[in-house]
Amino acid sequence: MKTLQATHIISTIPLDKLAEACRKMVSEECLNMSRKLLFMDMQLAFFVIKSNFNQNENLIIYSFEKHHRWKRLSVRPVRNGLYTLTVEATFKPEDEKPIDIVVKEIENNLILELKLFGREDILTRYNTTVRRAYPVYDIGFENRINSIIQEIQSKRIKIAGRQGLFYYTNSSYAIQTAIDAVEDIFKDITDKTRRD
Ligand SMILES: Cc1cc2nc3c(=O)[nH]c(=O)nc-3n(C[C@H](O)[C@H](O)[C@H](O)COP(=O)(O)OP(=O)(O)OC[C@H]3O[C@@H](n4cnc5c(N)ncnc54)[C@H](O)[C@@H]3O)c2cc1C
Repeated sequence: MKTLQATHIISTIPLDKLAEACRKMVSEECLNMSRKLLFMDMQLAFFVIKSNFNQNENLIIYSFEKHHRWKRLSVRPVRNGLYTLTVEATFKPEDEKPIDIVVKEIENNLILELKLFGREDILTRYNTTVRRAYPVYDIGFENRINSIIQEIQSKRIKIAGRQGLFYYTNSSYAIQTAIDAVEDIFKDITDKTRRD
C-alpha cells in the first residue's frame, strides 16, 4: 500500500468510512454514531428491447407488490421501436441475493406477470450493483450527521458529495458541494498567505 501526503483533502467517500479512517482524531461517540449509519445498495438491470410502446413517451412504473424485488422501472424510446429499460431493486447489504437470480426474477415478473414484452424481444441485457446508492434516514439523523461532520471536518479535511454528506439529491448538488469545498480551501490558503 502506498501512502500519499496531501495538504488538503476533499472526501466524497462514505461518511462512516471516513470516520473510520480518522478514528485516531475523533471521539468514540463520533465513531459509534458513524458506525450506525445505514445505506441501501441497489441492483440495476438494463435491457434493450424491441416493442410497440408509444414511441414518444417515457414510461415509469412503480411496484408496491411485496413479491417484486424491484420497485421502479423506466422505459425510454431510442429509435425505430427500440427501447431501453432500467429496473431498480434496492436492498439492505445483509439481504443481498446473487444478481443473476434477481435479474432472472425481474425478467420473469416483466414477461410472465406484467406481460410488458416477450423474452424474444430482449436484444441486450446488462446488470450492475451500486453500493451505498441511498442513505437511510431515521428520526433525528440530521443532528447525528452534523455532529459527525463537525468532528471530522477541519481546514484540511472537507467533506462533499452524496455519500460523504449522507445527503441524497442529484449530481448537480453533489458537484456543488465539491465546488464549495474547493472554495473553502482556497479561502483558507488566501487568508493564510495574507497573514504570512
Ligand atoms: C440508481 C441511481 C440513479 C441516479 N440517477 C441520477 C440522475 O438521473 N440524475 C442525477 O443528477 N443524479 C442521479 N443519481 C445521483 C448521482 O448518482 C449522485 O448524486 C452522484 O453520483 C453523487 O456523486 P458523489 O461523487 O457524491 O458520489 P459517488 O458517485 O457515489 O462517489 C463516491 C465514490 O466513493 C468511492 N468509495 C466508496 N468507499 C470508498 C472507500 N472506502 N475508499 C475509497 N473510495 C471509496 C465509491 O467507489 C465512489 O466512486 C442517481 C443515483 C443512483 C444511485
